Amino acid sequence: MSVSWRVLFIGLGMMGSPMARRLDGEDVELTLFDVDPDRVTELAAELNAIATPDPVGAAARADVVALMLPNSGVVERVLLDSGVLAAMPAGSVLLDMSSSRPASTVELARKATEHGVSYVDAPVSGGRSRAVTGELSIMAGGLADVIMRVRPLLARMGTSITHTGTVGSGHAMKALNNLLSAIGLLGAAEVITAGAKFGLDPALMVNVLNQSTGRNHATEVKFERFVLSGKFNSGFALDLMVKDLCTALELAEDSGMSTPLSEHAVGLVVEAARQIDDPTADHTELARWVAKQARADLKKNGKETRPQ
Ligand code: NAD
Repeated sequence: MSVSWRVLFIGLGMMGSPMARRLDGEDVELTLFDVDPDRVTELAAELNAIATPDPVGAAARADVVALMLPNSGVVERVLLDSGVLAAMPAGSVLLDMSSSRPASTVELARKATEHGVSYVDAPVSGGRSRAVTGELSIMAGGLADVIMRVRPLLARMGTSITHTGTVGSGHAMKALNNLLSAIGLLGAAEVITAGAKFGLDPALMVNVLNQSTGRNHATEVKFERFVLSGKFNSGFALDLMVKDLCTALELAEDSGMSTPLSEHAVGLVVEAARQIDDPTADHTELARWVAKQARADLKKNGKETRPQ
């Protein structure tokens, strides 16, 4: 089979590695770059891929440059300061799959258009497990014909691909999704902690909630796997969640609406992150933090960790 795509993938962390792995195939000439060279050599050795120490040189011969980076600040540094965007050939596509700030995305897309490069924001939801299986939910903002063109690549990484509107709309949708997801996690943690202090078994509560109207993604997926198990290892960092929540709040505030519930929830998450004070902490640590505020331990059937 001949090569149909030359793809440069930048950012090989928790999400980027499994996503790049899904792109590997005979019809894709895949080039990998990360600021951490070990991640590049390890993954390139495993795949039929090229490891590059020179993202600018690789961008110059790419049809598509895909990014899976921590935040807009890093995306801007890679694209503008390092010169990746200026090196990309006219007619190529920049696919920012990171969870970035919509305002930054719109500005970068304007600069890309000046170079003749099409910009698509295509952030994802589903976490590392769905990145591994290629079952992510992808929210794509940009021109319909450009999204159609890169759809065969997106379809290898996700099973749900939604065109959300103009460029930046995917990043807006993603931040708002994560705001609701965080509110759901906080709500579940508070309710299950209250039940535990009353004497209800947290695992039993999760089962009942999942058969009842209080269920959400936190009760259906996160509690059993990452909270009650004591593992706290979903692969999505608390610091990244804080970033997304600040983006969502800024977006809502810019619209002029008042967001008392969201503001309170984000305040709690920011305070939890400040107290946990660990850049490697998983976002599911939020549930442990909520329980700790109430001197409860969700693994211990409602028994309090120390006498009141
Ligand atoms: P991560 O920290 O595991 O990975 C980020 C990668 O980017 C790292 O390998 C890092 O070395 C690399 N990097 C940093 N600066 C760089 C630079 N200047 N040049 C090249 N590479 C650089 O983060 P992640 O969990 O994979 O998340 C990536 C993005 O996806 C974030 O925007 C996050 O919010 C979003 N996201 C994460 C999840 C999840 O479950 N982890 C889910 C959906 C979306």
